[in-house]
Amino acid sequence: MLLDTLLNAFFPPTCPVCAKRIESPGALCAECFSRLQFIHAHQPGKASAVVYDEVSKQLILALKYGDKTELAPLLARMMVNAGGSVLDGADLLTCVPLHWTRLLVRKYNQAALLAAAVSKICAVPSHPRVLKRIKATPKQGTRRERIENVKQAFALDYGRNVKGKTIVLIDDVVTTGATADSCARVLLKNGAKEIRLLTFAKAVGKN
Ligand SMILES: [Zn+2]
Repeated sequence: MLLDTLLNAFFPPTCPVCAKRIESPGALCAECFSRLQFIHAHQPGKASAVVYDEVSKQLILALKYGDKTELAPLLARMMVNAGGSVLDGADLLTCVPLHWTRLLVRKYNQAALLAAAVSKICAVPSHPRVLKRIKATPKQGTRRERIENVKQAFALDYGRNVKGKTIVLIDDVVTTGATADSCARVLLKNGAKEIRLLTFAKAVGKN
């Protein structure tokens, strides 16, 4: 507690979106929070908490590249609120893996952090290494190129057993859905019963 107080005095927590000072870390200011566009209608087996826009993008970037790992519980809470039906009856949470070369640079996989934080709230076990990325996919390129690249990018990690399991894939944002589809295909091929998807944000109408 004392350490927290000292840290807050020397490094006052700021809103990860607008950089305004806030009371405690791991949150965003009321104004930015009110700008989040929550999604209320979900497809069966798929749920996302908010629309991918400037506000949610800043939150994801802060979690991904800004070392703001304290944001994971906040985003996870919104994901659980949105994804009740997706989490219902699930056996396992896992995430879209990063290629090890990228993991080396980034130090952590933001999707694994979100999966662990969601697991803590809903008590469905989380395992970050069910899948492995066998091909590093370039970030740039056209949509078509990216979809082509992501095909066959994943494999079941050594010794994993997903037979008969209902698995929820967790990711920060879903855009084309190609990555999640590719992961789902590998899991189903290895005997998983059902694959669902839960993300923090969802790109809407720009694909
Ligand atoms: Zn703000």
